[in-house]
Amino acid sequence: MQNTAFEALSLDYVYVPFDVAPDDLQRGIDGIRALGFAGANITIPHKERVIDFLDWVSEEARAIGSVNTIVNDEGILKGYSTDGEGFMRALEAAGGTAKGSQAVVLGAGGSARAIVYALAKAGAKVAVANRTFSRAVELADFMNVVLGSELIEPIALQSEAAGEAVRSANLLVNCTSVGMYPKVDCQPVPSEWLHKELFIFDQIYNPLETSLLRAARAIGLQTANGIGMLVYQGASSFKIWTGMNPPTDAMEKAVLTKMGVVL
Ligand code: NAP
Repeated sequence: MQNTAFEALSLDYVYVPFDVAPDDLQRGIDGIRALGFAGANITIPHKERVIDFLDWVSEEARAIGSVNTIVNDEGILKGYSTDGEGFMRALEAAGGTAKGSQAVVLGAGGSARAIVYALAKAGAKVAVANRTFSRAVELADFMNVVLGSELIEPIALQSEAAGEAVRSANLLVNCTSVGMYPKVDCQPVPSEWLHKELFIFDQIYNPLETSLLRAARAIGLQTANGIGMLVYQGASSFKIWTGMNPPTDAMEKAVLTKMGVVL
């Protein structure tokens, strides 16, 4: 999708993947400087540890403890996280709103941290429901301190409290890997918890329609899958590297084509 955008704007850049082992991370990052790369995306398992090797890190990336985008500013490496912005743009594009909403975020991993931060920054009340309750508590306590708020509440995922939180929410975001290929028949919450006021955002994009989204569609709820977030977080990285807004429709088409979706 990045190469499609570079071509569409006639920019002389190319996006290539590099497989970097954890022990080689520092040398990999030094290579960005030495080889004069314009920038990079960083993915699992390096998003947290890479912070130690950068010259500057944005306030948001520091708050969520994760960097997915690096720009090389004349040898000074700056780190950002675009997951939160990608989520917010995808949510709005799909007709959802964060401001003033009552949200339940399922999961407390890397992507949940970015999304909880973005939602709370936008003024949403957020319940974080995680299988491992202690991780939800750690996330909520940390974010409430960082944001100087009491907007974030931790809950255990398999509990009656989680059911009550979903029943009184208007936004449900799945940040767990439950429902992802190959275990496509699993659902992070039971269908009985879903109701008419709920907008459901599942950030999984393989499959495009998870079991959770299918259950939501069956009762006529508004939904979004993870493709929009994938494209918009990439578009935000593109803007950081080039200063230009990429054609997101063409990027989405490139992703879907690569996934074998017939358009
Ligand atoms: P992560 O840091 O590994 O976190 C995984 C989360 O899933 C944890 O909260 C974990 O709970 C929970 N989980 C895993 N298996 C579970 C199960 N069987 N039952 C209940 N909870 C379970 O992963 P991540 O980076 O946040 O990514 C999560 C998902 O989002 C993945 O499917 C990934 O592909 C997708 N994603 C999409 C985008 C996008 O652009 N659309 C971006 C990032 C990620 P515990 O704490 O209890 O282990």
